[in-house]
Amino acid sequence: MLRAGVDLGGTKIQVAILDPDGNVVGQCRIPTPQDAGPPGVLTAIVTAVRSAMLDAQAETSDLMGVGLGAPGQIDHAAGTVSHAGNLPDWLGTVAVTSVLRDALGVPIELANDVQVGIMAESKLGAGRPYSSLLGIFCGTGVGGGVVLNDTLWLGRGAAGEIGHMVVVPNGEKCPCGRRGCLEAYAGRSAMEIEARRRVKHGHKTDLFHIMQHKGRDRLASGVWAKALAQQDKMAKQLIHRAEWAVGIAAASAVNLLDVEAVIIGGGLGCRLGPPFVDRIRESMMPHLILPERPPQVLVAALGDLGGATGAALLVEHTVSPPGDLATVTDPDE
Ligand SMILES: [Zn+2]
Repeated sequence: MLRAGVDLGGTKIQVAILDPDGNVVGQCRIPTPQDAGPPGVLTAIVTAVRSAMLDAQAETSDLMGVGLGAPGQIDHAAGTVSHAGNLPDWLGTVAVTSVLRDALGVPIELANDVQVGIMAESKLGAGRPYSSLLGIFCGTGVGGGVVLNDTLWLGRGAAGEIGHMVVVPNGEKCPCGRRGCLEAYAGRSAMEIEARRRVKHGHKTDLFHIMQHKGRDRLASGVWAKALAQQDKMAKQLIHRAEWAVGIAAASAVNLLDVEAVIIGGGLGCRLGPPFVDRIRESMMPHLILPERPPQVLVAALGDLGGATGAALLVEHTVSPPGDLATVTDPDE
């Protein structure tokens, strides 16, 4: 039997199909529809799962269940996703589980997108050697998660929101409505707003030419990467600002938690890779209370598929009989 994992993001929907050994045997990636609200997004998820199953040369009846990692607030029991500001018209509460279950005919598991991505890194990716880690995922927004003693620390349900750690009191406006959060400096939405503001004030950049050339209507991670490669001055400034802000937030969190590793992921983190992470490490160092014993700072190893893989892992815990877990679903053994 196969498991499907869906990583629902502000710009793309990524699906991965996992075989019983945890190998990715099919996938599909489509843009998140921007103009049809939550119903349009849910329809696109169904389409993407079906085409990923085709890619895996399997039938929907081979599917054991679908795990979905979504932004915003998740109510697992109610099967709803609320306040997902990075998704189109998704500020209220949307019933997700029931709609997807009716359309696909299989059980649906829901969890926070960043949390599933961080658990995937902890179990199968860059975090495997460590029992404690901090994940910082820079994408449309900035998400985070904390693993302590190999367990995701959920707090009262909302732990890990490092994107809203204040790095500049009364600083730039954050998409959450507050000021000076990390996400206001290191989330792609906020970075794009700042780039557009600078262009309006007469600053020059190739960012928007590259965006058009790539047929995009947003500054996706690949657009930033290309502009950096071309030594675009504004792109460099805004990326350096993001690195500086992530470093400050990471150092504060490390001083508090003393984790073994900091894993940088998300679209921007994965696309910009080691140079981005190296500069985050540099930015972090002066703020560490124990600089002689810094944590490892690493790029997420599962890349673009981490969120979808982690979401697929949600299925095994709830659907497989407990006796099967060790043999069927422990791909890292
Ligand atoms: Zn914020």
